[in-house]
Amino acid sequence: MLDLFTIFSKGGIVLWYFQGVNQVLTEPVNALIKTVILQERGSVSSFQHGSLTLEYKLDNEFELIFVVAYQKILQLSYIDKFIDDVRREFRDKYAQDLRDGNVMRDFDFTEEFQRLLKKAEASAKNQAKQPRQMRTFEESQKSQKSVASLKVDKKKEKEKENVGKKKGKAPPEPAPPAAVINGGTVNTGGGGGGEGQDTIQRNREEFFKKMTGKGSKKNIGTSPKPEKEKEKKKGKAPTKWAHGGSSKDAKILDFSGDKESNGTMAGEEDLGDTERAWVGSMSGELKSVGDLYEEEEEEEEEDDDEEEIQQKDSKKSSGFGVFNMFKGLVGQKTVTAEAMAPVLDKMKDHLIGKNVAADIADQLCTSVATKLEGRVLGTFSGVTSTIRQAIRDSLVQILTPKRRIDILRDVMEAKSQNRPYTITFCGVNGVGKSTNLAKICFWLVENGFRVLIAACDTFRAGAVEQLRTHARRMAALHPPEHHSGVKMVQLYEKGYGKDAAGIAMEAINFAREQRIDVVLVDTAGRMQDNEPLMRALSKLIKVNQPELVLFVGEALVGNDSVDQLTKFNQALADFSSMENPRLIDGILLTKFDTIDDKVGAAISMTYTTGQPVVFVGTGQTYTDLKALNVQAVVNALLK
Ligand code: GDP
Repeated sequence: MLDLFTIFSKGGIVLWYFQGVNQVLTEPVNALIKTVILQERGSVSSFQHGSLTLEYKLDNEFELIFVVAYQKILQLSYIDKFIDDVRREFRDKYAQDLRDGNVMRDFDFTEEFQRLLKKAEASAKNQAKQPRQMRTFEESQKSQKSVASLKVDKKKEKEKENVGKKKGKAPPEPAPPAAVINGGTVNTGGGGGGEGQDTIQRNREEFFKKMTGKGSKKNIGTSPKPEKEKEKKKGKAPTKWAHGGSSKDAKILDFSGDKESNGTMAGEEDLGDTERAWVGSMSGELKSVGDLYEEEEEEEEEDDDEEEIQQKDSKKSSGFGVFNMFKGLVGQKTVTAEAMAPVLDKMKDHLIGKNVAADIADQLCTSVATKLEGRVLGTFSGVTSTIRQAIRDSLVQILTPKRRIDILRDVMEAKSQNRPYTITFCGVNGVGKSTNLAKICFWLVENGFRVLIAACDTFRAGAVEQLRTHARRMAALHPPEHHSGVKMVQLYEKGYGKDAAGIAMEAINFAREQRIDVVLVDTAGRMQDNEPLMRALSKLIKVNQPELVLFVGEALVGNDSVDQLTKFNQALADFSSMENPRLIDGILLTKFDTIDDKVGAAISMTYTTGQPVVFVGTGQTYTDLKALNVQAVVNALLK
């Protein structure tokens, strides 16, 4: 009934295998290693690939992986116990060889395997024959409870409640709403104020201090609170941050003073000195946002010295190798689930405190537990430092892109093939799609590429005008006179209420005809649960096959990030009616300037999609676009 059972070392040496079918099964096993084991998804013990289900177990003491594969349609209830039995017997039989690192020998395990398999199948059959009997009332837990005990419980509960009331304890407050804007525009003008707004404001101030190298992270709590804004906004506010950042930023993307566009491009005279100074500042690769945490990194380094010694020791003491010979001489301990539990609990809370979605923090910790349980540590390695290192490795692994995304190079390549490179921006409302689209546009223009902005948000009033203003500004910053008479930025718009997929297609065709290098497609913000809108987005992507589908998400978002991304991806898959549907390829993380070191959304989003953070939005000027620095973000997360 089993298609495959294989035992291999973490280094990739196959020790023994059983194959029940003629087919070559390397691909599903490789897929399991690539998508589950190497991507820190150790909390998942079962994996589906084509028509197969694969289950696996790690043996961390001997660094072995046991994998079983069987047809998906079979419901084999005995697999979990069976892998354990095989693991135990294999370890017992070859303990000495495994300890000595003698893995190239011939492992003859077929007889034991067949015996265990027969036993497992027979017991599964027996269980199937005997349907589970319902418990009698006497056997149930309820029968143990006397009526009196129930009464006492209720009384106690009441007493507890009263004590709480007497002490003036308020009933537990609902958690403050996350500063996520779902369905509305972020009130960046400062209207409303409120505590959440204050925190964002404080974080922004910290961020800008870090950016300019002034101030230290220590005064986060003591930084002066910004004055309350008096003016209230009406409708979609001008993009203006009165207190955020340097005085330079006050002008930035506040285009509220712009005259109603008549479709013509603005002239040079419309630009301020600040804006003019931007020209030429964004050429080349994007700078990394991680430089902000440099200070913290230095401190970390000191702490790390001590840990490094421990790590080296733990590396030496695990796996096959000459150091195993000394294991018997120095004290050693095996990592157990019980020893890990309190440390992992703390780690989970810490990650949640850094805004990692609770589910993801949980899965991450479970994955680390699976990876470490049973591992033998040397005398000098503590469980805490081992876990910390494992978490650090996992976080780095998650954030490190699995494939290269080099947009400038890809645009060049598309250009050499006489086709435009298309990026589609999607996400919920108010997260910063249009603003960050404009920043990317500016960066591309600064690198000498011609850009066409396709206004495919045909839904939200003002969306087209917002892009028109951006296009005018950028065209004024890079006027045709500076580029041999060529228009560097243009807008493709067809007003409101039309089919977005159709407009995107027309825009791409227009770009091809006009030899424009990049098309940036703005789409309407939509909630992940809105089926008709999700269907429309799926159609837009299916019809136009953009080179990059960017999900724009706020760094402020907590648990909701997982829901948003899972549902966006699910909808793109469900509504595409294609065998290999296009899903989200990358993430644009906005409002990074408002979160200080609570950088958890980066982890939640990359873990959920398996896709990298391609851009980070760090403010409201065209130059506030950065790349992610994985190490620095991980440092901030573990700080
Ligand atoms: P859309 O509805 O998704 O297109 O969102 P908008 O582009 O209209 O942006 C919503 C608000 O978020 C605007 O006020 C932007 O100025 C602001 N915003 C966008 N990106 C950033 C960022 O990186 N940092 C900050 N602080 N604000 C941003």
